[in-house]
Amino acid sequence: MSPRFVFLDRDGVLNRRSPLKRYVTTPAELELLPGTREGLSLLSAHGYGIVIVTNQQGVARGELTSEALAAVHDELRRQVSGAATFLDILVCPHSEVEDCPCRKPRPGLLLEAARRHAIPLARTFFVGDNPTDVAAGHAAGTRTIYVGEPGALAGQTPHFSAGDLPEAARIILREDGLTEGTA
Ligand SMILES: [Mg+2]
Ligand SMILES: [Zn+2]
Repeated sequence: MSPRFVFLDRDGVLNRRSPLKRYVTTPAELELLPGTREGLSLLSAHGYGIVIVTNQQGVARGELTSEALAAVHDELRRQVSGAATFLDILVCPHSEVEDCPCRKPRPGLLLEAARRHAIPLARTFFVGDNPTDVAAGHAAGTRTIYVGEPGALAGQTPHFSAGDLPEAARIILREDGLTEGTA
């Protein structure tokens, strides 16, 4: 069996988005969504390599340092420990005016992850809560699952929609021909 992978957006998929469009800047502000550990456990138990891909333009805007971001990610790893470990966390730290190739909806983070870990993009799902995640997935050639507000897709068409990460995980297992409870 060839290795399986899944890409996950961070804010709004694993943890609550910070209110008022600000950024999660300290470990204390990181609050997992209710189904996160369950969803991660399902994927992990079936052997998926889990890669986080996240836009964090708060770094470019001076709202958090890369050290603070690393501390937030250490806290994220701590809060999901026992449910999953992450194969990698890829960050776009740039602001939208920098026109970088990695800020979603561009596919740079997904392509870099694929290069680093030999991930077969067409067989890999990307779960995100923003239309830009769906767009990045399409641009990179992944399958896409949208877990955001149903009315907020902004013209993007995901392959699947789900209410939360556990539902997205069950879609992935179903589409990959795996059933819950078998490893
Ligand atoms: Mg998000
Ligand atoms: Zn970038």
